[in-house]
Amino acid sequence: MEVEVDFLEAAKGATKTVTFDRAEPCLECQGSGAKKGTSPDTCSTCAGRGAVVQSTGFFQIQTTCPSCRGQGTMIREFCPACDGAGRQARSREVTVDVPAGIEDGMRLRLAGEGEPGGAGAPPGDLYLVVRIREHELFARQDDHVLVEVPIAFTQAALGATIEVPTIDGKEDLKIKGGTQSGSLYTIRGKGIPSVRGGKRGDQIVRVVVEVPKKLTKKQEELLRSFAETEEANVTPERKSFFEKLKSYFEG
Ligand SMILES: [Zn+2]
Ligand SMILES: [Zn+2]
Repeated sequence: MEVEVDFLEAAKGATKTVTFDRAEPCLECQGSGAKKGTSPDTCSTCAGRGAVVQSTGFFQIQTTCPSCRGQGTMIREFCPACDGAGRQARSREVTVDVPAGIEDGMRLRLAGEGEPGGAGAPPGDLYLVVRIREHELFARQDDHVLVEVPIAFTQAALGATIEVPTIDGKEDLKIKGGTQSGSLYTIRGKGIPSVRGGKRGDQIVRVVVEVPKKLTKKQEELLRSFAETEEANVTPERKSFFEKLKSYFEG
């Protein structure tokens, strides 16, 4: 069985209610399998012992009674509610504590919530596999939260303080002047607590520099005059690229 949790529920912990069907003793016949008001007869084949003894020459072999399959009793009239099985699938609701930091695919053990064992044995444990829904902003790598944040090319060039989302709310992040698209910034301790120790990971912000698709007349003029200054002011990266180009074409 699986239980689905949100990204933030997995990060911070949550209490979830799960509903599932489980075989429970039939309410109509109290688990006997016999119609209400009747009771099972003693098995005539084994006289209620549940076992029969067969003689084959010298040997006597005791086997489970074939008539009552070892029950010692025979049901004359089956309970209509459970068709004589003595059990019914009934819906069961259980609350589960999902610990903070749980990872996708981890299993939660619910003691005693499994199917009952045969012949009155106590029920086993139920295991729930945790599935974490994707988040539209956050992704996860180990205990780190990954976020991609778009910034304007002017912010990248000049530097800026931007607001970034974290799992605790908004956080200010200082972008250095001259930041390249794809640069990573780390906000320490803003990740997900480890499900094993509680120590929180980091948030890693990847900035994506956006180039405007449309410019106003004024912006275009400003950028054109900026471009003119650029000719004389080639960055070291571009300079080395142009040098490589030159040697590539000229051999
Ligand atoms: Zn029944
Ligand atoms: Zn029998």
